Amino acid sequence: MLVFNNIENLQQHLSSLPINNLIGFVPTMGALHKGHLSLINEACIQNDIIVVSIFVNPTQFNNPEDLEKYPRNLQTDLALLEDTNCDIVFTPSIKEIYQSDITSKNFNFDGLENQMEGKHRKGHFDGVGTVVKRLFEIVNPTNAYFGKKDFQQLQIIKKLVQQSNFNIIIHGCEILREEDGLAMSSRNVRLTDAQRNAAPFIFESLKRTQSMFKYNSIQEINTWIKDVVDKNQHFSLEYFQIADEDTLREAKEKELNKKYRAFIAINAGEIRLIDNIGL
Ligand code: AMP
Repeated sequence: MLVFNNIENLQQHLSSLPINNLIGFVPTMGALHKGHLSLINEACIQNDIIVVSIFVNPTQFNNPEDLEKYPRNLQTDLALLEDTNCDIVFTPSIKEIYQSDITSKNFNFDGLENQMEGKHRKGHFDGVGTVVKRLFEIVNPTNAYFGKKDFQQLQIIKKLVQQSNFNIIIHGCEILREEDGLAMSSRNVRLTDAQRNAAPFIFESLKRTQSMFKYNSIQEINTWIKDVVDKNQHFSLEYFQIADEDTLREAKEKELNKKYRAFIAINAGEIRLIDNIGL
C-alpha cells in the first residue's frame, strides 16, 4: 500500500499504471470503521486499483467545534487499511487541497442542497461539492463509492457528476450498523456510555416508521416521532422528514409509484447523529 500526501506524486504514480486499469475511489474523512471498510470491499469487486482518501474537509463543517473535535487517528487508519485491498491512500494537507483559499464554491444541485442537512448545516453541501469535485479531478477514478448513511450526500454527488460531466460511476453502498442497530459513524466514539446505550433507539424508531408507513399517514408518523424523541431524555430531535428519494423534498401525502425514505437527525448533547431508512 502506497501513501501519498502530495498531488503531483499521486498523479505521477496513477499515470504510470496500465491505461485499462479500473480505479475505484473511496473518499473518507478518516477515523475509519467497518462502514468505511465495507465501501472498500465493494470497490474491490469492481476495480483493479483502490484509492482511499483521508481528508477532514474544513469547508463542510458549519460548526467549528465539530471540526475541532472530529476524531483524527491517521496511524490507526493506515494500520486498518493495510489489512484491506487498498492500494493507495491519499492524505493531503489542507494547503494541498485549497492552497491559501480555504473557501467553498457555490453549487446549485437543483434544490437537493436545500433540504434536510442543507437546511440545518448552512454551506455544508457547498463544502462537500468543492472537495469531492477537487478529489475527482485529482484521482480521476472509474468508480467512486459513497454510503447511503449520508443519503442526501450520495444524491448530491450523483448530481455533481452529471452537472460537471465527469465520466465516473457513483455507487451507493448499504448502511453498516452495529449489532444493536446503531449506524456506524466516526462520531459514535464521542458518545457517553449512557448515550451509546440509548442510541439503538434511533434505528428502532426508523424501523417502526417503516412499518407504520403502510397503515398510517405521514402526518401521524411525524407526530409520533416527535413525541417519542421528546420523551427520550438522551436525545433531541433536529429534524425528521419523510421525503421522495429522488428530489429529497418533504412528502406530505403518499403518492403511488414514488419511492420514499425517512431521514432523521438527532442530537445527543453536542453530538449530532443522522440515519435513514427506505420505506
Ligand atoms: P465520512 O468519513 O464520514 O465522510 O464517510 C466516508 C464515506 O463512508 C461516506 O460515503 C459515508 O456515507 C460512508 N459511511 C460512513 N458511515 C457508514 C456506514 N455506517 N455504512 C456505510 N457507509 C458509511
